[in-house]
Amino acid sequence: MNQNHKIIIAIDGYSSSGKSTLAKKISNILKYKYIDTGAMYRGITLLAIRNRIFDSDLWNIRNFMPVLRDVHFKFIWNNKLNKTDIFLNEENIQSEIRSLKVTKKVSLIAQIPEIREKLTIIQKNFGEEKGIVMDGRDIGYSVFPKSELKIFMKGSIEVRSFRRYLDLQKKGEKVSYEEVKKNIIHRDILDTSRKISPLKKSIDSLEIDNTYLSIEDQLNLVFQLINRIKKNNQIII
Ligand code: C5P
Repeated sequence: MNQNHKIIIAIDGYSSSGKSTLAKKISNILKYKYIDTGAMYRGITLLAIRNRIFDSDLWNIRNFMPVLRDVHFKFIWNNKLNKTDIFLNEENIQSEIRSLKVTKKVSLIAQIPEIREKLTIIQKNFGEEKGIVMDGRDIGYSVFPKSELKIFMKGSIEVRSFRRYLDLQKKGEKVSYEEVKKNIIHRDILDTSRKISPLKKSIDSLEIDNTYLSIEDQLNLVFQLINRIKKNNQIII
């Protein structure tokens, strides 16, 4: 396959709106790399917690800069579990970053300009050769504004909260549905109202409200568009 024909697929949307489920399926079908940028912000949050940033002056980013400077991420396919693991400085942080402890702080960390700048550079590098599906909040708008396909996902607060609640239950976290819902509402507010790269739908994106849509229906919509891109540009994606 000609390398130049690969595209970048940017998937943005609200917390627990099914971005990663859809992104993983698309990347599997197209044999593209999948990059979960939320996991990167979660990874930095884990580092901040370990470095006791929240116990002192969070906003004094200078305390955290030396730690941030040496950060590197790798996404490696885990054959046994059939999923991608994320490594931060060679440590597999895949399960620790999903805890409520990290989830409660991540949107605060994601507001810090120096952190967004650093992660945006790493994300742009991941996309250099195209052939990538990246999900997050600001991918279509600011990381890859020229990406060939942009998708924006949303769903009712109840459906999104229930999904996240079931995920956490499966992992054995003792948390109530109300607590999960409160966290999601709080993150929606922080993510859409922050000054730098807020969550925002770009006009050239395909909006998917999956409150009542199955994953098959969502894939159908996306592949209709992918086929149109192929046909219009006479390319193999
Ligand atoms: O997608 P996920 O829920 O794991 O993301 C965790 C948090 O990371 C989001 O609530 C948001 O605050 C932040 N984030 C971001 N920009 C991205 C991806 C995630 O600000 N591209």
